[in-house]
Amino acid sequence: AKDNGRNQYSFFSKELEVSLSKRINMLKELKEAVNRDEFRLYYQPKFSLIDGSIKSAEALIRWDSKEFGFVSPDDFIPLSEDSGEIVKIGAWVIKQACEDFASWSELGLGITQVSVNVSNVQFTRDDIVKVLSDNIIKSGISPESIEVEITESYMQEDSERALQILHDVRKIGVDLAVDDFGTGYSSMSYLKRLPINRLKIDRSFIGDIPHDVDDVEITRIIVALAKTMGLAITAEGIETLEQMHFLQEMGVDEGQGYICSKPLPYEQFVELLKKKNSC
Ligand code: C2E
Ligand code: CA
Ligand code: CA
Ligand code: CA
Repeated sequence: AKDNGRNQYSFFSKELEVSLSKRINMLKELKEAVNRDEFRLYYQPKFSLIDGSIKSAEALIRWDSKEFGFVSPDDFIPLSEDSGEIVKIGAWVIKQACEDFASWSELGLGITQVSVNVSNVQFTRDDIVKVLSDNIIKSGISPESIEVEITESYMQEDSERALQILHDVRKIGVDLAVDDFGTGYSSMSYLKRLPINRLKIDRSFIGDIPHDVDDVEITRIIVALAKTMGLAITAEGIETLEQMHFLQEMGVDEGQGYICSKPLPYEQFVELLKKKNSC
């Protein structure tokens, strides 16, 4: 039993060592990645559930690392948040999305908005209002062209200051959406205070619709809540026609998911829109 215990101990400590040194290595690479131009923005169309038209897109970051190859954002975003590196990466995302939106406008693709994911850390450690307005002005686009996606957990940090920043973002004309809605702990009174335009229903509720009774009920409640508060709704992760029809009947106005398109690199996104501007 004693031996066994020791083996187990060394097994776990080795695991920890490996993941820790991997994290340290990845962080080292992450710090260089913006300068080395290793990030790309992919764009996933968002489409009207009323007439199918594509009017906007969500920017999703991709890291093609020299050292690690293709790394998923679910792996490097949390690391970049812990280390503070997200401030630099997030500013790059906003700059790139503004520039890309400006060129879509020149091409006349009929896209009216691009959504960017903004981390809680960017709100607390950077002047997000300045980053947004500087890039909007530099790329010559209108502020309404940008929607910022925040997560539910943002407001738990430092309520009054956090709320003020959201108001300042809205004041410059940028839209606000709450991402992954339903997975956090928002109360109604909390939601009522937020100066937001839109709720995005998390894809974990959409995947088993219409078969999972609980998910259907949760989605119904979120839709009712959004309507009561005058908010627009996006359902993310729509993969099947069945899901799409169900959400249409519920009165959800916008969808996003593989049923229309996966996130695409800039060139392919432009090609898609030139071929068809609806899903
Ligand atoms: P998210 O913001 O909830 O983005 C939606 C995720 O769902 C994306 O994963 C997208 O590729 C995926 N998805 C879209 N449609 C479908 C579908 O029909 N089925 C399935 N199974 N998946 C679908 P992705 O691109 O891997 O991004 C993961 C997460 O990483 C994002 O979740 C977001 O939280 C974060 N992220 C991505 N880009 C950025 C960024 O620029 N900044 C920040 N702070 N976070 C980002
Ligand atoms: Ca998002
Ligand atoms: Ca989401
Ligand atoms: Ca998510």
